[in-house]
Amino acid sequence: MYLGEEAQPKIFHPVGAEIAEETYQIAKFPEYVQLRQALDTSEAMGLSNPFFTVHQGITSNRTMIDGRELTNFSSFNYVGMSGDPVVIKAAQDAAAKYGASVSASRLVSGEKDLHGELEREISRFLGTEAAICFVAGHGTNETVIGHLMGPGDLILHDALAHNSILQGAILSGARRRSFEHNNPKAAEELLKQYRHEYRRTLIVIEGVYSMDGDYPDLPKFIDIKRRHKAMLMIDDAHSIGTLGVTGRGIGEFFGVAAEDVDIWMGTLSKALGSCGGYISGCKELVEYLKYTAPGFLYSVGLSPPNAGAALAALRLLQAEPQRVRRLQQRSRLFLTLAKQRGLNTGMSKDSPVVPVILGNSVHCLHLSKALFERGINVQPILYPAVEESAARLRFFITSEHTEGQIRFTIDTMAEELERIHPEYLTETLES
Ligand code: PMP
Repeated sequence: MYLGEEAQPKIFHPVGAEIAEETYQIAKFPEYVQLRQALDTSEAMGLSNPFFTVHQGITSNRTMIDGRELTNFSSFNYVGMSGDPVVIKAAQDAAAKYGASVSASRLVSGEKDLHGELEREISRFLGTEAAICFVAGHGTNETVIGHLMGPGDLILHDALAHNSILQGAILSGARRRSFEHNNPKAAEELLKQYRHEYRRTLIVIEGVYSMDGDYPDLPKFIDIKRRHKAMLMIDDAHSIGTLGVTGRGIGEFFGVAAEDVDIWMGTLSKALGSCGGYISGCKELVEYLKYTAPGFLYSVGLSPPNAGAALAALRLLQAEPQRVRRLQQRSRLFLTLAKQRGLNTGMSKDSPVVPVILGNSVHCLHLSKALFERGINVQPILYPAVEESAARLRFFITSEHTEGQIRFTIDTMAEELERIHPEYLTETLES
């Protein structure tokens, strides 16, 4: 190519050539064919499909599958709010009063007083100036990061960032760089090297990491974002209702002031037993998003049952902080017992997310099936969701789990592992 020549677009189909079916028939897309093959292979190996299991009722510390009641560790109903009679009643009352949908964007006739009440309750709870709710947690990250950042900006995120953060970063068109998991020094190196080249810089971390159950050193991230004039966003999805003495999340856990973090993000779908996401922070941030964020502006307002349920759950959480204490006690018990038995729980600490890492997808599938047969439901997390060497069963503990359920689960898991992979427990205990 000589200087001045315009780059030619790639020609997929030379003139006169037949257009291949795999470019317009979805069933023939190579990506789809590959997926189908992977599903067929695991079926041929006699492994039952662990995905899309139908749960026949409320999922809490117990669930009903195929008419069988099981102890359940596959749902992030951390403090038992989804299914709590008070929360259900609030969802029902909201639907009865406002309908099942608000039938419009909030900007143009979809606004209900419930929305404002919920947002004021969230910001009061977190100690921020304001909050805004979105219809999905994933969509919140996607639209907010995608909207606040743009070409010429820099997004630094933890290497284990949730997909919604990555999607938002991609959508924004900003330069995206990841830093080593939970390593503020690595983030700072990037800031030293690149901050000056970009207009805005956003650092995105999570309150509790959803695959590993660990958390970042928040004060250190606040310190580096200040010194390098960057913004800090925290996805508190798994730390709201779980971390801190009263469940106010990682901010309470570390005792930081709300205004030390620029963007507090959270979901309504976990400890708050509903569905949706929120952003909380200064009033200017919230006002700007309310008038301009595409996923808010051009999307229906949060449904009345969802808003009602989240509001009731948030009030219940404050009225019954013992739920948080129980959750923390049960999580500690699970982790301690698991470690004592030689189960590899990775980096998990102080949180209700506890992985048991086997490092082998087939072993994970066998173990989850064996546990299922013995009355315990837990989700295997396999490649490509994590590296093969990190394939695991992921346990979500809830405040509703009894000590008996936890002890039985650890004992049963150790027994089944002896059968499936006899060296595992001795190897991990020795290492
Ligand atoms: N952030 C994190 C860290 C998550 O784990 C999830 C998914 N559970 C989301 C955002 C998206 O939230 P939601 O499932 O409520 O859409």
